Amino acid sequence: MQIKNKNIKKIIERVVKKDPLEKEFHQAIGEVLCSLEPLLEKCPEYEDFAVLERIIEPERTVIFRVSWMDDKGKVHVNRGMRIEFNSAIGPYKGGLRFHPSVNVGIMKFLGFEQIFKNSLTGLPIGSGKGGSDFDPKGKSDTEVMRFCQSFMTELQRHIGPNTDIPAGDIGVGPREIGYMYGQYRRLRNDFTGVLTGKGLSYGGLLARKEATGFGLIYFVREILKDKKDTFEGKTVTVSGSGNVAIYAAQKAIELGGKVVAMSDSDGCVFDSKGIDIETVKKIKEVERKRIKEYTKSHLGSKYYENCKGIWTIKTDIALPCATQNELDEKAAKTLIENGCRLVAEGANMPCTPEAIELFQKNSVLFGPAKAGNAGGVAISTIEMAQNNSHYPWTFEEVDTKLQEIMTNIYKNIKKASLDYGFENNLVAGANIAGFVKVADAMLAQGVSH
Ligand code: NDP
Repeated sequence: MQIKNKNIKKIIERVVKKDPLEKEFHQAIGEVLCSLEPLLEKCPEYEDFAVLERIIEPERTVIFRVSWMDDKGKVHVNRGMRIEFNSAIGPYKGGLRFHPSVNVGIMKFLGFEQIFKNSLTGLPIGSGKGGSDFDPKGKSDTEVMRFCQSFMTELQRHIGPNTDIPAGDIGVGPREIGYMYGQYRRLRNDFTGVLTGKGLSYGGLLARKEATGFGLIYFVREILKDKKDTFEGKTVTVSGSGNVAIYAAQKAIELGGKVVAMSDSDGCVFDSKGIDIETVKKIKEVERKRIKEYTKSHLGSKYYENCKGIWTIKTDIALPCATQNELDEKAAKTLIENGCRLVAEGANMPCTPEAIELFQKNSVLFGPAKAGNAGGVAISTIEMAQNNSHYPWTFEEVDTKLQEIMTNIYKNIKKASLDYGFENNLVAGANIAGFVKVADAMLAQGVSH
């Protein structure tokens, strides 16, 4: 998208000059700021009080050493970090990612996106993101435990149930959250809701595990409903086979879709009869093995040694649920040529700007991540409420709330897109609707941050 506003151009140029290596962060701010142009024309106070300059600068960044010992007694050193990005509308909230690719630029892009996502939920949550370049893959449970304990030994001094409430993300699931929570409790002598995604026996919430994936499908259901359509009989491809992908696939199947392919970072499986999601859960959640194992128990299914191969499979609906920039222009072109009608992002920023532009030009319905995957953080906020009130929610209550939140998100971003002249552009609608609430809160609270 062309940027006409000179101030926005200058701001982006300054960020690129200051931190030239943070490519994902540049990509994220470019996408958000350029869709704010019509809003800034109507509301000059955002520029007058430098809200754009302030909103792209994290309130605080903490970087720390994490030393831990493997099972053979060898000491390893990783880098941990937490970006406390924006607390204008509530305490910092957002996941922790453990993956070798973690660096400040990736954390900043995720933390920045989280500002608008959290705002779209309608709940009082600010934005944070963190993690480490530690790779849990191939490590024993005891190694993961020692790493998590060391990580939390430092992180605990920066977080709290009313300050910053981390959750899971790539590489951080119930096992890692459990080890970190145990260490927090030991160090602080405080049984409190400082992390979300906890186990059910110690404060966790029913349906939190399912929330991001289910939420994505509820969001897509609204897009389809607007076109007088449903999931019934549609083929669906879902990249990844982690927390988001598994529960997105499960709900798509429950609503009548046929999920024909899933993947991991090594490759993808195709099953023309429809993926058996219970097998995927067993391989990924219980055995922690690779997706290619699927073909051993499902004769006729095929495995391709390239995760990007998933975008060459013919599908009506494509749901990228693995990682950032996994779906590029070439993949978008192939999807369009193969008749794909709808793409919705389960992962954060999985589609490159060029891919999104191509979808929009070809009238492929497109649902952006900050709206589509907001169900996870929204339901994490219910976990915080459950912890504060000591009153447990049922699965049905949480699921009903999730459906209500996702429907509202869709309605609000669609309305914002129409109000500001971006018809059929939910990306712009999500950016504007998410921005306004946070920007107004920043204005109301004065120039202290
Ligand atoms: P998980 O760690 O549970 O799963 C990630 C999955 O993606 C794994 O199957 C992983 O495979 C796969 N993967 C990683 N890189 C690639 C790649 N290049 N191509 C194909 N597959 C790949 O993470 P989550 O499911 O929690 O997170 C997935 C995405 O959703 C992330 O972008 C995250 O930020 C976002 N998200 C997650 C939320 C949540 O509640 N969990 C909430 C909102 C957003 P492998 O095992 O080989 O690494």
